[in-house]
Amino acid sequence: MGASFESEKTCNYFLDPQGFEELILALRGHGYVVYGPVVRDGAIVYDEVESASQLPVGMRDRQGPGYYRLEERGDRAFFGFVVGPHSWKKFLYPPRVKLLTVSKKGEVTLNNGEERKMAFIGVRGCELAAIDVLDRVLLKGPYIDPIYAARKKSLFVVAVNCTEPGENCFCASMGTGPEAKTGYDISLTEVVGDGVHYFVARAGSDEGLSLLKRIGAREATREEVSRAEEKMEESQKSFRKKLNVNGLKELLYRNIESPVYAEVAERCLACTNCTMVCPTCFCTTVEEVTSLNGDVAERWRRWDSCFNLDFSYIHGGSIRSSRLSRYRQWLTHKLATWVDQFGVMGCVGCGRCITWCPVGIDITEEAEKIRRAEVEVAAK
Ligand code: SF4
Ligand code: SF4
Repeated sequence: MGASFESEKTCNYFLDPQGFEELILALRGHGYVVYGPVVRDGAIVYDEVESASQLPVGMRDRQGPGYYRLEERGDRAFFGFVVGPHSWKKFLYPPRVKLLTVSKKGEVTLNNGEERKMAFIGVRGCELAAIDVLDRVLLKGPYIDPIYAARKKSLFVVAVNCTEPGENCFCASMGTGPEAKTGYDISLTEVVGDGVHYFVARAGSDEGLSLLKRIGAREATREEVSRAEEKMEESQKSFRKKLNVNGLKELLYRNIESPVYAEVAERCLACTNCTMVCPTCFCTTVEEVTSLNGDVAERWRRWDSCFNLDFSYIHGGSIRSSRLSRYRQWLTHKLATWVDQFGVMGCVGCGRCITWCPVGIDITEEAEKIRRAEVEVAAK
């Protein structure tokens, strides 16, 4: 980071809705494809946006275990919702991607990734933490994924602090939100209500700072900053869902045979929804396809899930043939073995797996049940 950034990084800037629109236009003008939240099929998903008017303006999402509905807020907030079924993973680590092509003559063409200028608008603190988790798996481990690495290279991130956590959010327990901490170029806190609508913006990189200056963002006043800070203080206090992470890894290791797993397996449909919506799940499978005339064969990678029976198929059969073993694998990987592998939990507290589980299985409740069951057994 340059000297200019070092001296101005603590500065708060003011953006009104028009200034926010100019931010999108400036990014597009610099060759970025801008992605942000949009409403589609009754949910807020991520897609390309050309203007702020395409955002879910004035919408909020109501969420519960196995429950998601959109409703109008009665204001013009641009980011008055939390997270939907999509995550930014779909752009960085696509659901289906060609790995290589082999011609009949045996010529192999590898997909080494393609650098593309992408800008993400509206990335939440938990989602920044999820991208950091993917970095640890796909960039910082023994194997570097070239497709992820190329897509990550020119990424520009506009983060949004969550001023109204959702019913299933527990990022505060995981230390990943509601405020975006690192990993952004610009962070925004939206203030809407009492006749005002503006953003307090902070730069997280030289590129972010120069963009704010280019669009003519002025320094925010003390009062404007105070209102944004009050919103964040209220937000921090308003979480209803919690996960007790104290000694959680060791608790799960001690309770591999917990009776809780048998009970949850009675409800789990092994539908894979929780893994598909999770912003950190990275499991894939590969498939080979041949053209009808036999000239070309291709190898494709697509997202897979530890809830699929075939996923753990080795010679002779699946090593996780029961739903009990598959749910246990998922829960213990997210909250325990992931820590040993990558140094952090695989859960960032976004709540997606709770919302999009058709039977409303809640990772925070299941972990808590395992904790309670251990105490009850010890008390006998
Ligand atoms: S496990 Fe659930 S709450 Fe945790 S990051 Fe994945 S989807 Fe979000
Ligand atoms: S926990 Fe819920 S979302 Fe995940 S596989 Fe089971 S039924 Fe599906």
